[in-house]
Amino acid sequence: MTLLKENFSLLEYNTFHVAAHARFFAEISSEEQATDFFATGYAAKKTRFVLGGGSNVLFTNDFDGIIIHPVIKGIEKLEEDSEAVVIRVGAGEVWDDLVGYCVKHEWQGIENLSMIPGTVGAGPVQNIGAYGVEVMHYIERAEGFMIDTGKRVTYSARECKFGYRDSIFKNRLKDQVLITHVVFRLRKEPQFHTSYPDLQKELDNYSETTADNIRQAIINIRSAKLPDPQVTGNAGSFFKNPLVNKEKAASLQRFYPAMPGYPQQDGLVKLSAAWLIEQSGWKGKTCGNVATHKRQPLIIINRGDATGEEILHCALKIQKAVMNQFAVKLEMEVNVL
Ligand SMILES: Cc1cc2nc3c(=O)[nH]c(=O)nc-3n(C[C@H](O)[C@H](O)[C@H](O)COP(=O)(O)OP(=O)(O)OC[C@H]3O[C@@H](n4cnc5c(N)ncnc54)[C@H](O)[C@@H]3O)c2cc1C
Repeated sequence: MTLLKENFSLLEYNTFHVAAHARFFAEISSEEQATDFFATGYAAKKTRFVLGGGSNVLFTNDFDGIIIHPVIKGIEKLEEDSEAVVIRVGAGEVWDDLVGYCVKHEWQGIENLSMIPGTVGAGPVQNIGAYGVEVMHYIERAEGFMIDTGKRVTYSARECKFGYRDSIFKNRLKDQVLITHVVFRLRKEPQFHTSYPDLQKELDNYSETTADNIRQAIINIRSAKLPDPQVTGNAGSFFKNPLVNKEKAASLQRFYPAMPGYPQQDGLVKLSAAWLIEQSGWKGKTCGNVATHKRQPLIIINRGDATGEEILHCALKIQKAVMNQFAVKLEMEVNVL
């Protein structure tokens, strides 16, 4: 039976470490429990939010609805042949533990996604990515329940409609599905992605390129570069890198020849949100209890006692500064509630 908690503190459940309460909080630890819980119809039609590790969330207020928190565990091998292995993983597994487990078993593909905080269930939601790899290339399907009806659902990778930090779970199915399991296909033959200059440089310290060494190199880079959310409240990159058309990119590059721009397959050009923010004067800038990180301006940090509203206020100021200078809209990557 699912124990429904009321007026539940979310302080320990968000990496910004902002104080907020949920009117109701339900922890789901198995598919059976999910079946029973959704059969009660309790969550149907209520304002709801599925909360994993809270590392991509900003609570700007108390949450007047129900938070559904999956803690479903387990890594099950479904198939294996000489080339690949297929595994089904519980949504509540810690993402980085899964990466470590796969690297240890020499199942390759997701090693570049080492040290991304959060849970496995959230991975498909924003199609997590880092160091030239996106998780969508290793996902076979996501399984779960429709929250309103309790119906079991499965979405193939194609049906997940993955994009850059995007999927169907952020659009048409936003707040509609509880993902309980993610099925991954990982390779036994290595095919490493090491083109990122930071990664190449760090790998020079190792005698060979293996998944294990890539994982370690990325852990080193990230530990040196990013604030540890256990110590300093943050939710990683607050904004997505903006995608603009070729003409817009070219006209900006005429004024700002040093501006980085990365042409995409669809003809759009990806700009660096960090560069735009830095040029707008927001690198390492303080705004009351909030600041941008001194090495990575894309990360907004809680300097101690910031409220969610203060953090949002700072984010809106950054958005405005970039808009005023470059006429480019920064879209928030973090889920603001
Ligand atoms: C220091 C730091 C570094 C980061 N680096 C990266 C990075 O390199 N790349 C990257 O992509 N992200 C990065 N992130 C962002 C974040 O870690 C990822 O988005 C992660 O996948 C969020 O996982 P979570 O469990 O904390 O999800 P939450 O923050 O709890 O939720 C995120 C979203 O997923 C939904 N969700 C979560 N679990 C489920 C589920 N089981 N079913 C349905 N919906 C669900 C939520 O409703 C919400 O919309 C970083 C964050 C931090 C703090």
